[in-house]
Order: sequence, then structure tokens, then C-alpha cells
Amino acid sequence: MGEFDLIARIRARAPTRADVLLGIGDDAALLLPPAGLQLVVAMDTLNAGVHFPPATAPADIGWKALAVNLSDLAAMGAQPAWCTLSLSMPEAQAGFVDGFLDGFLALAAQFDVALVGGDTTRGPLSVCVAVHGLVEPGMALRRDGARAGDEVWVSGSVGDAAAALVQWKEGCKGGQLGCPAEAQPDPLSLALRARLDRPTPRVALGRALRGVASACIDVSDGLLADLGHVCAASGVAATVDVDALPASEALRASFSSEHRRHLQATGGDDYELCFSAAADAHAVVLRAAATAAVAVTRIGRILPGAGVAAHTADTDPWSAPATGWVHFA
Ligand code: ADP
Ligand code: MG
Repeated sequence: MGEFDLIARIRARAPTRADVLLGIGDDAALLLPPAGLQLVVAMDTLNAGVHFPPATAPADIGWKALAVNLSDLAAMGAQPAWCTLSLSMPEAQAGFVDGFLDGFLALAAQFDVALVGGDTTRGPLSVCVAVHGLVEPGMALRRDGARAGDEVWVSGSVGDAAAALVQWKEGCKGGQLGCPAEAQPDPLSLALRARLDRPTPRVALGRALRGVASACIDVSDGLLADLGHVCAASGVAATVDVDALPASEALRASFSSEHRRHLQATGGDDYELCFSAAADAHAVVLRAAATAAVAVTRIGRILPGAGVAAHTADTDPWSAPATGWVHFA
């Protein structure tokens, strides 16, 4: 099995769309963007051992590689349309590619994303995806629009992915790289692990927040860290009630309240949307979220100044040992 056999395998299953004039097979793809819309482009790379545990199932790697990219489009309020896929593998394994495509294409089908090209090379396991989406002029959700007085919101629940990573590391204690096959993981751990392996990009919510949210970001590095990016871009400060952060039942049942605060405030990889909106748009935000069938929770406020301050429900200041995940730190 060589590079071209792998590409043929991918091409045979690649979904297409009416606006793909020429997909996989030529030197480049030819796309027909609709007149009057802006093109929104994002790219994210997943490296084995850095972005997912080494023993992650190929289908989960495929799902996540596309999900993290769709999450970036969601955070911009864009509608996904096309993607490209660069795959590096130590050896040409049809089994890996087939499994990878199972996850990748399941998600692509959900959002009607066409796979229009890519690259296939030999090297350490690494997956790079670029996605292209569309948004109405002036309607993109950016990081620089938060204003003092705005409310801060987050979608779904946060902390599960970081919790799964903690449990995975616990399971590895004393073990080798690659880790023991988790012997009969309990349902709670499985629920957390599903959030790590198969994040849900909040595309419908991002679309519903056009014209409603003043700024938006997806939570990939950790809630406080990512909100910090919004504050820096907007020239404002924020305050967050860590006890208001929405937690799943699995997270509540598995960790002490202080450990949970830490996971929720600083853990990454949840791919929820954190956004700001004018306080008088509170009801509009709730309606938009209902349209998208996603829960949203008000977790704080935008203030004049700089930086993100967290406090508990008792208004005591709260700080974490570190905020978020920084590569090369
Ligand atoms: P070139 O050498 O001209 O860059 P390639 O042999 O790399 O062409 O790729 C042939 C075709 O297959 C191109 O259309 C390319 O976009 C597509 N392709 C290669 N690898 C992938 C992949 N992993 N996923 C999707 N399409 C791919
Ligand atoms: Mg090429």
C-alpha cells in the first residue's frame, strides 16, 4: 500500500457538494463560493501524544481532527463548507485510514462539509485539517468586540475533557507510554472520555449568535485563558464566578468541588463557546441558544481594565495554579 492507494481510498469515500467544481484528484480543488458571502478559513493540527493520548482509536482521532476545526468556524459564526486534510503516518496503514475516515466523515456528514483535497506523507502520526466556511459580511463573531457591562456566557458544560485527561494519566501511573488498556472503565469515566475524544462543535449556536454576541471564542486552551484572549483583543477585563461554571453530572460525581473548579476554569479541550453579549440582550441570548438547542450559562461580566479575575460564589477571589495549556511552556 503506497501513497496513491491511500489517496484513492480517501477519494472513494470523500463527501462532495454542488459548489465543488473539482475535488480530490487534480493539483488543487476548484470551489464556487456564493456571491456576497465572506470566506472564513481555519486550520488546526493534532499530534499524537500532544493533542490526544497515543492509544486513541483512529475513528476518534478522525472525529476530533475535524471537530476542533469546525469549532473554530463555530466561534466565528460561520457555516462550514469545505475542508482539506493533511495526513502524516509512520507507515501506510489502510486500517488506520479506514478507521480515521469513519470518525472524520461521520462529522463531515453532520455538517455537510466536503473533503476537497489534502496531502499524504510519511512521518510521525500527525493530522492537519483546514476548514473553509462562509459568513455574511460584517456578521463574523470576533474576539475584539467585548464591551464593559457585557455579560459573559459559556455553552454546554466545561471541565469534562480535562477530567478525562486526568483520569487517563492516573490510569498510566507506573505504566508505560501507551498506558494500560483501561480495564472496564466505569460509565462516568466513559462519559468524560467521550467529551475528550469526540467534542461537539457548536456550529448552530455560533450561527444563532450572529448579531447577538459582541465577541466569541471556542474553549480549547482553558476557559479563563481563552476569555483572557477575548479581553486582550477587546481591551477590557472580565470577572468570572467559578461556581457558576456549568458542570456535567459525570464531572460532579467524579471530582471534589475544588478540583472541579480547577478543571472547569483552566482545563482545555471542551470546545464550548465562550462569548459576551450586551446585558440587555440577555433574553435574546437565551432565545438564540434555544434555537440552537444548546444550553448556555451566564458566568460573569466584562469590566473596564485588563485581565480576567475569578471568584467563588461567596465572592472570594479564586485563582488557579496555572491558566490553560501553553505549548512549549
Ligand atoms: P500533488 O503532488 O499535485 O500535490 P498529490 O499526489 O499530493 O498531488 O495529491 C493528489 C490529489 O489527492 C490532490 O487532489 C490532493 O488534494 C488529494 N489528496 C492527497 N492526500 C489527501 C488526503 N489525505 N485527503 C484528501 N485528499 C488528498
Ligand atoms: Mg501536493
